[in-house]
Amino acid sequence: MRESKEKKLKRAKAIFELLLQDFPDAKCSLHYNTAHELLVATILSAQCTDKRVNQITPSLFKKYPTPKAFAYCDVMELAKDVHSCGYHNQKAKSIQGSSLMIVEEFGGEVPDHMDTLVKLPGVGRKTANCVLGEIYNVPSMVIDTHMIRIMNLLNFTNSRDAKIVEFDLMAIFKDKDWVKLTHLIIEHGRAVCIARRPKCGTCTIINLCPSAILSK
Ligand code: SF4
Repeated sequence: MRESKEKKLKRAKAIFELLLQDFPDAKCSLHYNTAHELLVATILSAQCTDKRVNQITPSLFKKYPTPKAFAYCDVMELAKDVHSCGYHNQKAKSIQGSSLMIVEEFGGEVPDHMDTLVKLPGVGRKTANCVLGEIYNVPSMVIDTHMIRIMNLLNFTNSRDAKIVEFDLMAIFKDKDWVKLTHLIIEHGRAVCIARRPKCGTCTIINLCPSAILSK
């Protein structure tokens, strides 16, 4: 039976509140001190774990302490420095290219608007939303694999396209909750609703999940 919009909104609110109880301290797990460091860490985190990114960023940010240092660096050397995060050539190019634009076109400041952020080389909506939410307190959701998978399981979207998922969720969750929601779902995806082996038996939102596997 089709769920009414009203029921869906109620279910979404209840799920948000239950997950907030499960993971009250959920937050961005990338380590950074400035907007630019977060931008670099987020570019590095594509197809890589935050844990691995956090292993290399302390020495990386020491070696390249400013957007200028990244902008005018030897990109081959930078690629070597970020090698362990995978896709190192592409990521080095994105980091250098976006740093160059930030230095030469934005006075060294990371832009605070989606339209401008996505003009930076290698920066898509996911990275832009991360920076907007974490640094500039702009309501935003980071649509990663956990968000796509779990929001499909919860029947809040039926798309695998990150932008469509983002807009579906914007219509269901309150904008003040968007940033926290991302962190809650990521924690939930890592600890409970694990891909291919969800722990439905211990899941606090089992009664609100249309995909619950009741025998587990
Ligand atoms: S009930 Fe199962 S499928 Fe649904 S959110 Fe919880 S762990 Fe995931």
